[in-house]
Amino acid sequence: MALQMPKTTRKRKPTINPKLVQERLDAIYGPIEWRPRMIAVDELIFTVLTQHTSDLNAERSYDALRKAMPTWAAVIEADTHKVADAIHHGGLANQKSVRIQKILVEILQRLGHFELEFLSNLPMEEARDWLTSLPGVGPKTAAVVMAFSLKMPAFPVDTHILRVSRRLGLIGRNVTANQAHPVMEDMIPSEDRYYMHVLLITHGRQICKARIPQCGRCPLNQECPASSQ
Ligand code: SF4
Repeated sequence: MALQMPKTTRKRKPTINPKLVQERLDAIYGPIEWRPRMIAVDELIFTVLTQHTSDLNAERSYDALRKAMPTWAAVIEADTHKVADAIHHGGLANQKSVRIQKILVEILQRLGHFELEFLSNLPMEEARDWLTSLPGVGPKTAAVVMAFSLKMPAFPVDTHILRVSRRLGLIGRNVTANQAHPVMEDMIPSEDRYYMHVLLITHGRQICKARIPQCGRCPLNQECPASSQ
């Protein structure tokens, strides 16, 4: 289902030129190449495990899950508490274990297998709708699978990208993560989305940190409305 956006959110112009942001961040973090990470169903389950935890804990949970139950069919068949035990490193294990089993059951019921690569042959909005109609799969998880596994021009908005984009004025300060997906995709040409995603997330991790942004080191501190310098 397409997200309903308030017209004012869609119409607002960024206070900083997105191309300028890309050029300045590219100078310190680029060049960036697209590399396949995992097959789509693996990426989907991994992304569920990244919710509300660090990448490191999500990786530990994912590795433990694959070790305990090496196939997705085995995860469906396992007792839910055993799935939760396997993924306990990432927190919210009870909720995530139920969500993961529901997603896998739904995929199996729809397709009879777990191969999601066919989605890359669909128009982007159809692929997004297919993914977000799975239980507990929101715009960010769908966009991660499309961008990182299916090489589709989706723009995932995580906590780093939301924070940096708000501070820079690319989006309004009250725009939510779910609202930011279509706004960023409207703003950034499809061929630049993966690149810009990686630049902004890297900037959020390395310089524009959540608690104390290091504006003195930032190549955008003259233009950024939130700069403390
Ligand atoms: S100037 Fe500061 S707040 Fe603005 S993007 Fe750079 S680090 Fe973030």
